[in-house]
Order: sequence, then structure tokens, then C-alpha cells
Amino acid sequence: MKRFEGKNVLISGSSQGIGAACALRMASEGANIILNGRKFDERGQGIIDQITAMGQQAKFIAADVSDPKNVIDLVNGAIAAFGSLDALVNNAGVERNHDFWDVTEEEYDFVLNTNLKGVFFGIQAFVKYCKANNRPGVVVNMSSVHEEIIFPHFAAYCASKGGLKMLTRNLATELAPLNIRINNVAPGAVATPINQHLMETPELLNHVLKNIPMKRLGKPEEVAAVVAFLASEDAGYVTGSTYFVDGGLTYHYEEQ
Ligand code: NAD
Repeated sequence: MKRFEGKNVLISGSSQGIGAACALRMASEGANIILNGRKFDERGQGIIDQITAMGQQAKFIAADVSDPKNVIDLVNGAIAAFGSLDALVNNAGVERNHDFWDVTEEEYDFVLNTNLKGVFFGIQAFVKYCKANNRPGVVVNMSSVHEEIIFPHFAAYCASKGGLKMLTRNLATELAPLNIRINNVAPGAVATPINQHLMETPELLNHVLKNIPMKRLGKPEEVAAVVAFLASEDAGYVTGSTYFVDGGLTYHYEEQ
């Protein structure tokens, strides 16, 4: 029996990177997938084609999740797409590298609205649906090691992922009576387009690898495997947690 047989899953920001890997992993285990990105293009079509080839269904709903109205429409559109929704993976996320004293309100809003505000109202729409229909639900949020460890020059990003940590801790308690579980996955440095510059700059890459006990970047598929676990019944007693997928980065010991 496949773990997601008959389940419908919405994954935000799933045209590429970790979100796309989650879509393919969960589809390979029987899920129908609602893909999302700001716009539908050949990347989204490529993921749809791969999922269809696995014998599962996939639809793409274009929506900018940084706007609460859009994210609510996205969740409701996903429910309508296949008639029900079992799991929500809040994966879309953005970062901006800037000295703290130069961060503009526009940049702050761009990061916080995508990584935290949109997630907040997306979960709320999903919970209203579960509650109204007396259905269980699962939420997995794509956080980051930076919900826990510092990242100088990425203050807005750290604030957003730190907020996500407490949002998940808080909702785990509030949603448990509704039979809704919620957890975070916290990747370290993963080889995706968000890290293009890092991967193309050997000096920077070596510096990053120095702090990773496993001495390599993670693969999107390695993050997707943990997302699939948390979204599945195998994690039926797991809620309010963060699972780090970081090659040991977060709590590494640096020899002096
Ligand atoms: P990515 O840039 O490759 O993919 C992110 C996807 O989200 C893109 O397809 C993008 O278009 C989409 N997206 C961004 N803003 C959106 C919006 N407002 N509405 C809809 N879609 C939007 O990045 P990734 O590396 O795959 O990152 C995915 C998640 O993992 C993010 O939340 C990121 O913070 C987190 N993360 C990544 C790493 C890493 O090293 N790659 C590390 C820690 C955390």
C-alpha cells in the first residue's frame, strides 16, 4: 500500500527545487498533487508530465502566496481541484541578502509576507476547511536551519523562519483537538536554484562546507523524503516538531 494512495496534497512553490522534489516524491507514493507557483510555465508543465507518467493526477494553480487573499484562493482552489485536500506543504520561500541597516520596508515585506504571512493565512484557510468538514489534516512547513541558527545579513529571512518555528509550536497545541498535525522541516544548504550563486562560487561553497559535518550540500530529494514522512501516517504521533535535514550543520562542533 502506498502511503498517499487516494490523498490530495497542495505544495506551494513547487515548480522547481525542494517543492518540485516533494511533489514527485509524494506522487510516487500515490498522491494527487496541486502544484503552485507565481506563474505557470514549462517547469510546472514538466512536473505535471512526470506525475501523470506515474499514473497520478496533477494540476497547477498560479498564485502569489505572499498575498493572503491569493493564498486563501489557492487553498480553496486546491480543495475544489480534486474535491478534497488532505495535506498542505508550505514550501514557497524567498530570501534577500542585505546588511541589516540597508534593508528596505519593501524587502522586509517581500520576505515576511511570503515566508510567514502567506503561510499563516494558508494554514488558516486549510484549518477552516478541515474544521467545517470534520476532517483530519496535515501541515508541513518548509522552515530552515535559520529558525534556529543565525545568518548575518539575512535578518528578515531569520525573522520569518524564526516566526515559523513558533507558529508551528503554537498551532500544534491549538490544532491537536481538531486532529490536525503540523511540523516544520528545516533544510541546511541544499542544491537548488536558490543557491545558484553559492554553487558557482568555490570560495563561498568551501566556507559553507567547512560548517557541515557531512561535507556536502543536501539534495532536494533528501528533504522531500522527510516531508513525505511527516505528511504520512508514519508520523501519526508527531506534531509541533522541527526535523533538521542539514548534514549536521545546526549543532555541529567546530574543532579549534
Ligand atoms: P527555490 O527558489 O528553488 O524554489 C522556491 C519556489 O517557490 C520557486 O519555484 C519560486 O518561484 C516559488 N515562490 C517563491 N515565492 C513565491 C510566492 N510568493 N508565491 C508562489 N510561489 C513562490 O528554493 P528552494 O531552495 O527550493 O526553497 C524552498 C524552500 O526551502 C523555501 O522556503 C526556502 O526558504 C527553504 N530552504 C531552502 C534551503 C536551500 O538551501 N535550498 C535551505 C533552507 C530552507
